[in-house]
Amino acid sequence: MKIPFVDLKAQYTSIKKDIDNAIAQVIEETTFIGGHFVKDFEKDFASLYGVRHVIACANGTDALYILMKMLGVGPGDEVITVANSWISSSETITQAGARPVFVDVHPEYYSLDETKLEAKITTRTKALIAVNLQGQVCNMDAVTAICKNRNIYLIEDCAQSHFSEFKGKRAGLHGIAGSFSFYPGKNLGAYGDAGCMMTNDDALAEKCRMFANHGALKKPDHRIEGINSRLDTIQAAILSAKLPYILSWTEQRIRNAALYDRYLEGIEQITLPKVRPDTKHSFHLYVIRSRQRDALMQFLRDNGIETAIHYPVALPNLPAYSYLGHSPADFPIASQLQQEILSLPMYPELTEEMIAFIAEKIKSFYTTHNS
Ligand SMILES: *Cc1c(COP(=O)(O)O)cnc(C)c1O
Repeated sequence: MKIPFVDLKAQYTSIKKDIDNAIAQVIEETTFIGGHFVKDFEKDFASLYGVRHVIACANGTDALYILMKMLGVGPGDEVITVANSWISSSETITQAGARPVFVDVHPEYYSLDETKLEAKITTRTKALIAVNLQGQVCNMDAVTAICKNRNIYLIEDCAQSHFSEFKGKRAGLHGIAGSFSFYPGKNLGAYGDAGCMMTNDDALAEKCRMFANHGALKKPDHRIEGINSRLDTIQAAILSAKLPYILSWTEQRIRNAALYDRYLEGIEQITLPKVRPDTKHSFHLYVIRSRQRDALMQFLRDNGIETAIHYPVALPNLPAYSYLGHSPADFPIASQLQQEILSLPMYPELTEEMIAFIAEKIKSFYTTHNS
């Protein structure tokens, strides 16, 4: 059996008519930039999610950058983010002119360790980008209390946490704003680059909308200089076509995670992912830990199972951040995790049979590699 890490074709096949119609309609109407498809998606995503404003943009990285610029983050400021994430979570801080400050990840839940946050706050700290990595929401009780007390903005990077929840409240709604990516492999994925910001703050929403569109809400009323970060219209139509399925796809991911838990139970050499109490983990990724990660990954590849590492080098350990002068010991958990984490195939269309097959192969690896 061959099992890819993500299977975008399986999902396309299951909703082919919807997707084909959506694309055909955009072409038929020749609404290639903006238009009602983008507005419809913003409105529908906002109402399904339960937020006042969704502002579409070109990708999830831009969403973070735009938010920071419009919150006034700039030179002289520090913005805290987490040591294990995709580089967008930190490079956008630098793009805005500020300095990224990293905080380690939680040893059990792998997203931000809230107990280490306060020590990173200085008089220069303007904001925190809390990344709900893998679909695991941070401890928002602690994080929101700290941000409130210390008067810093909380931005949630929800590129991996569409429809995750902390105590019944969705990821992206805990701070001033949330950023989302609709990169094809994300839980809600377009057929190219796409992203959005969401907020309940009317003034911030208007600023972000303006900045993403050359500083103008309407041509040619450029009140400021901005950037060109539009959601492509074909992508908007595709995303709208997918919205009716997103809740059930999310449930299927959760079901698949439970199946993995069941089939992998009892393999002592691996650590299974734990869900933070009182949360809904949307399982963008199902991440196990193994001390023989590289050998296990190769063994699975040899058996037709594709896995991935998110991420092989923690952000502060990247050459891009050598100027900060950190050593791996400064982020012991993230630095340890980068050697042990392995993301198993995860998508709604994964079947129980496939999960059982993957688990069987992991077991057979350990019958020959039991150290
Ligand atoms: C995917 C991702 C992004 C960036 O999204 P793009 O749409 O690729 O720009 C940002 N943060 C995290 C955690 C991501 O996984």
